[in-house]
Amino acid sequence: MPGPCRCRRGGASAGVSRLIPDMNAYQKEQIDALNMVWRYFDSQGASRLAELRAAITGYLAFRQRVAAFLETHFKTICTKKCYQSRQSACCSKDGIITFFADVAINALISSQPEMKLLSDAIAHPYQADKCIFLSKNGCTWRLKPVVCEFFLCDMAEQQVFPVKPEAQSQWEALNAEKKTYTWPDQPVLFEMIEKEFIMHGYRSPLMYLHNSPGLIRIRRARNESS
Ligand code: SF4
Repeated sequence: MPGPCRCRRGGASAGVSRLIPDMNAYQKEQIDALNMVWRYFDSQGASRLAELRAAITGYLAFRQRVAAFLETHFKTICTKKCYQSRQSACCSKDGIITFFADVAINALISSQPEMKLLSDAIAHPYQADKCIFLSKNGCTWRLKPVVCEFFLCDMAEQQVFPVKPEAQSQWEALNAEKKTYTWPDQPVLFEMIEKEFIMHGYRSPLMYLHNSPGLIRIRRARNESS
């Protein structure tokens, strides 16, 4: 389980890179989100931060179970096909979707040096054709975005699931469980986190549950039927 939040050490934005003029729009929105989260946590008292940490406990336990599943069923194949060959299909992607809640949750469980590493990676991408969160030592998120955690390439799935149908069922169950945190057909953690920041005057393009027309429609339908 990740260690206690140490975000407040060092003051607001102490560990986060400032905007650099030649950043592209994607880099800017990521740095902006980091700065927002950092500022907000720095403005909150210890008791509110403790409440927020308590609110994400179930999600962190879920992510540990997902990580254990991937370790059991995919570690060997992913290490060989992706990491050793340096051809990770996932991490080669430019502009992966990060939810605002991904940023906030990661910040809640990260130390200041970890946040600095992440923001430095964004501001100064290690390799132009790779994900901006990648450093020479790997992904700089302490808890990688949920989209990344649930990415399995076709080849990996085809090698594992036909010979382990029980693993496929488990994976489908984990995907369904993921929606209970991210999919707003019911009040979910990712929405609650966005709301927390919106209520305090913050807005970010990464707040997809409040920005994406499709997700807004789902929230409206839920509210109308309740
Ligand atoms: S955020 Fe991390 S895990 Fe996701 S694509 Fe980038 S480097 Fe890979």
